[in-house]
Amino acid sequence: MKPAYIRVIIDRAIHRELDYLVPDSLAERISVGSRVRVPFRDKSALATVVATLEQSEAEGIRPIEAVVGEAPVISEPLLELAKWMSAYYCCPLETVMRSLLPQVIRRAEIGWKKQLFVQPSHKIDKSEPDWQKEIEKLRKRAPRQAELLEAISQLKTPIPAATLLRKVSLDNQTLRALVKRGLAELREEAVERDPHADEQFVATTNLEMNAEQVIALSKIEEALASPENARPILLHGVTGSGKTEIYLQGIRAALERGRSAIVLVPEISLTPQTVERFKGRFAEAQDAVAVLHSHLSEGERHDEWHKIHSGRAQIVIGARSAVFAPLKNLGLIIVDEEHETTYKQEEAPRYHARDVAVVRAKIEKCAVVLGSATPSLESYHNATTGKYQLATLTQRVDEQQMPLMRIVDLRQERRKQKAAAILSEKLSQAIADRLEKREQTILFLNRRGFSTSLLCSNCGEARNCPNCSVALTFHRHMARLSCHLCGHTAAVPKKCPACGRDALIYAGFGTEKVESTVAQFFPKATVRRMDADSMTRKQAYRDTLLSFRAGKIDILVGTQMIAKGLHFPNVTLVGIINADLALHLPDFRAGERTFQLLTQVAGRAGRGETPGEVFVQTYTPFSPSIQFARHHDFAGYFQQELEFRERCDFPPFKHAILITVRSAHEGRAKLSAETLVRRLKENLGTEFILGDATPAPLEKLQGQFRFHILLRGEAIMRLSRLVRETLDKLPFPEDVTVTVDVDPYQLL
Ligand code: ADP
Ligand code: ZN
Repeated sequence: MKPAYIRVIIDRAIHRELDYLVPDSLAERISVGSRVRVPFRDKSALATVVATLEQSEAEGIRPIEAVVGEAPVISEPLLELAKWMSAYYCCPLETVMRSLLPQVIRRAEIGWKKQLFVQPSHKIDKSEPDWQKEIEKLRKRAPRQAELLEAISQLKTPIPAATLLRKVSLDNQTLRALVKRGLAELREEAVERDPHADEQFVATTNLEMNAEQVIALSKIEEALASPENARPILLHGVTGSGKTEIYLQGIRAALERGRSAIVLVPEISLTPQTVERFKGRFAEAQDAVAVLHSHLSEGERHDEWHKIHSGRAQIVIGARSAVFAPLKNLGLIIVDEEHETTYKQEEAPRYHARDVAVVRAKIEKCAVVLGSATPSLESYHNATTGKYQLATLTQRVDEQQMPLMRIVDLRQERRKQKAAAILSEKLSQAIADRLEKREQTILFLNRRGFSTSLLCSNCGEARNCPNCSVALTFHRHMARLSCHLCGHTAAVPKKCPACGRDALIYAGFGTEKVESTVAQFFPKATVRRMDADSMTRKQAYRDTLLSFRAGKIDILVGTQMIAKGLHFPNVTLVGIINADLALHLPDFRAGERTFQLLTQVAGRAGRGETPGEVFVQTYTPFSPSIQFARHHDFAGYFQQELEFRERCDFPPFKHAILITVRSAHEGRAKLSAETLVRRLKENLGTEFILGDATPAPLEKLQGQFRFHILLRGEAIMRLSRLVRETLDKLPFPEDVTVTVDVDPYQLL
């Protein structure tokens, strides 16, 4: 049936659905999910069709102007997902749409890359000798045209004009002249921009799996067979236990049922090696695997998206937003490293891709697998309550022992050295031992820079960022102070600007200092640093990894960049310079993050023949997350952490919503936050826990004063709705911004 009216949401934020009339001439081309251009106020705007209607009650209804693009861009299940996200994450639908559809698709301005193809003219029906005659005729008057015509007359199929011209070293003008004479034809054709076009992938086949892998895979196969009542599968397997092999065979099983699959990996793990493992396994079909990541050009993104939308690609591998890949007949979604906080988007819509994956799977009736060596507390809790099913891999495939974890008490080191230790005696001995044996070491510190603050030993003033309430970090390579939050940089003062005395001292240390200390300690060793400062170019990252793999680097110092998913068989020692950094953040997940970090970093040690050793330097050797990580005791850790969360009404027992109110004007931010708390109190009832408006731990960021309001409760959909209703009714001063974060991960 042809729609008479449609309901749309407009790309601009107006929080409302609008009805439009569909002219008969356009009706055939419109359905739910189409993109249209509509008149809006006195302009025109782009919009997405969310419903087709026979009637509309709306007044002053106007006809749409045009249909944008060919097929509907968004399927009904994805539209349902968008509506769920809008309600759950307390966020307007049009904002959700912005994440769901890449801009290049929403705007439909960039199309296929068009190329001119050339071929002999079809209008002239000539045999071989006739072409020769034409060529001879030209030879005298226009020898270059003759030469080009000769090349063109030999073409069996059209080829890109540019390619041909390059081959014969002739120019466009010559070609145009031939076209004008009616001897050659030009035709525009769409070509695909494939970022992996010139790479070859070695085909691989299924490995024979061990008993634990077989059980895990059979759970996926069951879920594929009866997706209506399948529960999400949490695959808990230590690093190197063969999770990826299970993903690969799970995808194969989905394809055999004629269904497609999405693999989500953290952006940092989306390396050429990862892509190669998937492309290699499904190498029989050239286009089967599409890759979505943030480094694609707009044109490449357009082409990958259409490759998926048209059904040519059946497997999508990508970071967070690949959860919205427009695959049809979705059979399986895999979320690797499901505990990774980078799955949470920190701007609106503030969604968590793992949770969105679980909901999409439910809507599309497909299987979903969440994999991790250190599952999030939320997912593990869901597995213990039976909401998810649990599959466990306890052994490394190579039957390698878990590395030995040694805790170094920095309090004792301090007594010995009278200064904060960077390298304890034990750790430096262990490094020396590895250098001797020609084995490699990774040193990990989650903090960039040389010194983390510049203090005055006379008056005690620290050099703080003028825009943010944090100390400036000293970076030696640029010999300046820099703010890690807003990027502000400043020269290093000679004297204390507060008291005028020449008494400035550097305190605290980052990766840069670790690098130089280690280099001083071990002058013969090759030391490299890998963090956001030293790896500003993508190539630098690759080069460093390659030389490390090739054994040209003895000691690699770095931030979380080196903590995740990298495989180096010759690394037998990992040193965690300071395990306490995360523990002291005002964040209820601090313990969980420390536990995960220690476990993940430890997974880097001893992947080859030699077992690994991990040194954990800490001032709090008895904190539970350090002790449980040391004994590789997941169950014990989860148990005690869950008890803590339950006692304090934190996730996974209660959902949280964090509201941030900010303004360049401190008083107005505070007042607005307090007013908001009062209104929330009136509207929420007693079912929910409502905190006071408090200055955020990070009071000032980029020149804005920030206040927090934390809400908690079980019925998150209801809580979200009540928050939205309260906010909609409350007028805030123009310079006050309010953001709502459901299931927040950033509590600073
Ligand atoms: P994870 O994803 O859990 O870290 P991987 O799937 O990457 O583990 O497996 C680690 C290594 O073991 C890989 O080199 C992989 O090819 C290999 N592997 C996985 N499963 C098997 C198996 N059943 N038999 C032999 N090798 C395997
Ligand atoms: Zn700053």
